[in-house]
Amino acid sequence: MLRRGAAEAEIAKLVKESGADTVVWNRRYGPARKIDERIKTRLKQEGVAVKSYAGALLAEPFEMTTASGEGYKVFTPFWKALQAGYQAGDPHPEPRKLKCARGLASDDIDDWMLHPKAPDWSGGLTQAWTPGESGARKQLRDFLDGPIDGYASGRDLPDRDGTSRLSPHLHFGEISPAQVWRAARHAEDAGGAPGRDISKFLSELAWRDFSAHLLFHDPEMGRLSWRRKFDDVEWRKSARSELDAWRRGKTGYPIVDAGMRQLWTTGWMHNRVRMIVGSFLTKDLLVHWREGEAWFWDTLVDADEANNANGWQWVAGSGADAAPYFRVFNPVLQGEKFDPEGDYVRHWVPELSHLSAKHIHHPWTADEDALAEAGVTLGDTYPRPIVDHAAARKRALDAYAAGAKSPSLERRAS
Ligand SMILES: Cc1cc2nc3c(=O)[nH]c(=O)nc-3n(C[C@H](O)[C@H](O)[C@H](O)COP(=O)(O)OP(=O)(O)OC[C@H]3O[C@@H](n4cnc5c(N)ncnc54)[C@H](O)[C@@H]3O)c2cc1C
Repeated sequence: MLRRGAAEAEIAKLVKESGADTVVWNRRYGPARKIDERIKTRLKQEGVAVKSYAGALLAEPFEMTTASGEGYKVFTPFWKALQAGYQAGDPHPEPRKLKCARGLASDDIDDWMLHPKAPDWSGGLTQAWTPGESGARKQLRDFLDGPIDGYASGRDLPDRDGTSRLSPHLHFGEISPAQVWRAARHAEDAGGAPGRDISKFLSELAWRDFSAHLLFHDPEMGRLSWRRKFDDVEWRKSARSELDAWRRGKTGYPIVDAGMRQLWTTGWMHNRVRMIVGSFLTKDLLVHWREGEAWFWDTLVDADEANNANGWQWVAGSGADAAPYFRVFNPVLQGEKFDPEGDYVRHWVPELSHLSAKHIHHPWTADEDALAEAGVTLGDTYPRPIVDHAAARKRALDAYAAGAKSPSLERRAS
């Protein structure tokens, strides 16, 4: 652990050694803001100029305020205000020449041995992603040439490539939301994509800004429930084996298991399925959303402080403009609705791949002949459900209702 101030001093020293007279970055909006402020102060003391920009978002959280001068707590008015005031300006031209910094002593990245070896579990990630700016641009082009057409309805279906998969590229700044906005509007103007689909896509992009906006106004949002009273729900702390089954995709609910395995293999999960697995953890298993947030943080390639916390709190019902806590997703009905043929499940849960669409989302209702024909032995080749959904739903609603009544609990925002 570095002593307070030591990191800033080390950074300032490296900047001086490099010969740079200016340091430029995009702003961060969570607790890291304080770190950036300290670095800025130190660099300025050393005579180095610092310029920070809003390249990571469409709009600065501190510039977006309601009529009463506060931050937004509801997405729809936020989105309306953003659309009304936002124009994606032209990007600055690339610099023709870069004065290179003087060579600095540096470790060889291979010496850090970051790449897993025993075993190498990274194959699925390598296959799924092309990190970097050109990979991001290609991803955007391919999306606007194809899946954008029908995005408004197709974005909810995990069995197809109906979304942009830009989230990790956006997170790492390989492409900016302004570039995405401009390209999408361009595709619409050129008649390449229906306005309805473009609008829906841009509103999803705006959820990213909304999450950052919420984090800016409540930097504790990654740790504490936005509506604080939800931290006092009697979450089950002794559900370790169920939590483990959820992480490994072995809950016995096929759509949940498919999502958790897609996450483990590729570092990404479809948004609809994130909601289903999130509801399953926080409602069916009654485990605190923080456990899910932490697992996603460790496994997602797009893991993002603001979006992850906001996504989890939306599902749990504890967040700003969240789903009401009494909305409990039924994992069977969700599977049947959004993966009607069962193709998504068949892909990620191959031990069920020979089951018919009729049974694939609830194999425990198939008769012995159907199971035998599909090569499935419940409790052996595939688990039986680890909870009964109807009973778990009731348990969750009782616990949430009791937590919501607790008089000692303070509402952060009403
Ligand atoms: C429990 C839970 C956890 C989540 N954790 C993260 C996370 O750590 N990082 C992350 O980027 N997203 C997170 N999301 C939001 C969403 O699932 C992903 O942004 C989306 O699935 C990324 O896929 P895509 O790029 O194909 O999205 P598209 O549908 O193509 O959307 C375009 C872009 O808009 C943004 N976006 C879309 N939906 C949302 C949303 N609901 N909230 C915020 N931004 C959105 C993303 O930047 C995305 O790349 C989470 C959602 C849930 C329910």
